[in-house]
Amino acid sequence: MKYIGAHVSAAGGVQNAPLNAYNIGATAFALFTKNQRQWSSPPLDNNTVDEFKENCKKFGYTKDQILAHDSYLINLGHPDRAALEKSRNAFFDEMVRCEQLGLETLNFHPGSHLDKSSGKGGDVNKSVESKCLNTISESLNWVLNKTTTAVAVIENTAGQGTNLGFSFEQIAQIIDKVEDKTRVGVCIDTCHAFSAGYDLKSEDGFNRTWQQFEAIIGFKYLKGMHLNDSKKALSSRVDRHESIGDGTLGVELFRRIMADSRFDGIPLILETPDDTRWQQEIELLRSFI
Ligand SMILES: [Zn+2]
Ligand SMILES: [Zn+2]
Repeated sequence: MKYIGAHVSAAGGVQNAPLNAYNIGATAFALFTKNQRQWSSPPLDNNTVDEFKENCKKFGYTKDQILAHDSYLINLGHPDRAALEKSRNAFFDEMVRCEQLGLETLNFHPGSHLDKSSGKGGDVNKSVESKCLNTISESLNWVLNKTTTAVAVIENTAGQGTNLGFSFEQIAQIIDKVEDKTRVGVCIDTCHAFSAGYDLKSEDGFNRTWQQFEAIIGFKYLKGMHLNDSKKALSSRVDRHESIGDGTLGVELFRRIMADSRFDGIPLILETPDDTRWQQEIELLRSFI
């Protein structure tokens, strides 16, 4: 079974997200459980939680069809101790919110090392990266110890700026140092993967990329996908999403994903820029199954 949807608005409260998803014909959705551009939001009250759960039930969404996304401000690999603590506490709050809402998965961007002097390659770069990846694993261990059920889902990045998690090896390194591997997962964003140098466009490239994914990370960790076309070229290291079929990736990749059972049973989420086209994009994707 393919669960297809989009990252829908939760304006006016998270309880509105399932309705927004239903209105575009989605069988999956992603949402922010708080304002993604602010450090703190008021805690979820019982009415909101109840209403969210009722709406999920009413419109037919189980926890397997929903992927929460964390705030853009959080950096679990921050090199500065005080800033790292701020990020960890914010991530902990997001995990708690997911558990309150009965959600299983929280998608996050792994983190950035922020060392502008690196990027010249070589051993210095490797050690800066490695240190940041270890910090991310430690952040996950800290937060998983303080929570009970939610799974932290690492999203691959385009490798823009000093963002890490753009290679399967980096993601595997983070997972390797997480103590409770039942509570860590991966979400692959097609636009980010292409920008990071994974040639998902050609059939050969598609097959090779997923062989590498299985060998280095493993499909058992795949908890969701972000389905985005890209405005930028292969290996551009720039994160710019495009509507399905309008970008440098093209429509064939999405046809292949829809016909591939390795992507069954997880949320497949559009983060494409034109939300007026989501319903049409979902229909198109469904026609490929
Ligand atoms: Zn994404
Ligand atoms: Zn992106």
